[in-house]
Amino acid sequence: MQHHIEWDNTFFKEVQANFERVGRQMHLDENILLRLRVPEKALMVSIPFRRDNGKVEVVTGYRVQHNDTLGPYKGGLRYNPHVNMGEVSALAMMMTWKSAIVGLPLGGAKGGVAIDPHPLSRQELQRVTRRFTIEILNFIGPDSDIPAPDMGTNEQVMAWIMDTYSQQKGHAIPGVVTGKPIDIGGSLGRREAPGRGVVYAIISAAEKIKMKLDSKIRVAIQGYGQVGGAAAKKMEKIGCKVIAVSDHTCALYNPNGLKFDSLSAYLAQNKVLKGYPEGECITNEELLEIDCDVLIPAAIERVIHKDNAKKLKCRILAEGANGPTTNEADQIIRERGDIFVIPDILANAGGVVVSYFEWVQDLQNLFWKEKEINHRLWEMMSDAFEKVYLTAQKEKVDMRTAALMTAIRKVSTAMLTRGLYP
Ligand code: NAD
Repeated sequence: MQHHIEWDNTFFKEVQANFERVGRQMHLDENILLRLRVPEKALMVSIPFRRDNGKVEVVTGYRVQHNDTLGPYKGGLRYNPHVNMGEVSALAMMMTWKSAIVGLPLGGAKGGVAIDPHPLSRQELQRVTRRFTIEILNFIGPDSDIPAPDMGTNEQVMAWIMDTYSQQKGHAIPGVVTGKPIDIGGSLGRREAPGRGVVYAIISAAEKIKMKLDSKIRVAIQGYGQVGGAAAKKMEKIGCKVIAVSDHTCALYNPNGLKFDSLSAYLAQNKVLKGYPEGECITNEELLEIDCDVLIPAAIERVIHKDNAKKLKCRILAEGANGPTTNEADQIIRERGDIFVIPDILANAGGVVVSYFEWVQDLQNLFWKEKEINHRLWEMMSDAFEKVYLTAQKEKVDMRTAALMTAIRKVSTAMLTRGLYP
């Protein structure tokens, strides 16, 4: 089998190894296996942009398209100084599986810029985003590849991408990105969708293990961004007690439950969780080992590893983040057998589901009510959960293996039906 140094990255190799493990387990056609283990296309660009002090800086950007058998490539854009080709490729492959599990007519892609967005001024962020859009202009489009927000990007970044793309084409093309502001073609419910979807998956899992989701249920969430923040508020809304949340500055712990009204007010003023008075500040590592019922890692990848996997004290592990558990940790958790894992490609699929709704609404120029969106999201998430759960039962495998089996089966069947060109 060919090895490429471009993808010589721990995260990518693990995601690839996981795919190969499950592919072999299900006797996947060898030709299909060879094609799916690497992305179809990968673009790397350098982005010059002017800082407010007049100096020009050059940063690296990526867009990786893993597979588009089922429909246009779809996946988020991440702004983080550590972004690299391997990480983006791993996330692109995961997007292929995610879209397939929930039955979307979309493929998998991911992109990113190796930059820390936090110290940038609004104008600097806008300039780097617009120039990045120009560099990847021929790679993206509403019929070919549709970016969305991910770590470090948000609705405003999507608005600038939509505007830059539209200016180049000469007319408004809202369908080129999802996760946009509502007033330029965004969808109601998109902002909360990944977090809401995680909670929907937790509701399905709790039902299977006969866990009553009430005020006795203690929830710990790593990351308080788009995914973690929405999940926290929704878990509180359904009556559970969120005892810990975190950001990159601190993890807040309050065994009596955190109050999100006052936390949001504090964040609006201070931007970071550090210093919030109604909770003890512990480390992000300690948060993962808290005695709780539901643990939601919703920040970065590879935080659950061989050294802390044995120490987890949750009953449900719902992976809001992509790739939070290393393969070694996954093996330990499988052997422990006391934690119900909702794997990332299932747990956080709510984001791409409502992104799909947004894209459909943009293409039809017809917008839906939030109630309808949330109802459809619930249907798709619970159907997907059920499908994966049944596969796990039938094949006598864990939920992560079952989720991958479900996705790989869907994509490989379509590939075989379409055939190899020429
Ligand atoms: P975000 O930028 O909105 O929030 C990330 C959160 O993680 C922030 O609270 C940040 O402070 C915290 N964080 C960053 N680095 C950290 C570190 N080293 N340790 C602890 N906390 C840290 O990002 P997001 O969009 O919520 O994405 C979070 C995860 O969810 C990522 O893995 C992403 O790929 C995944 N995801 C996002 C979406 C989406 O639509 N936004 C959808 C599905 C999955």
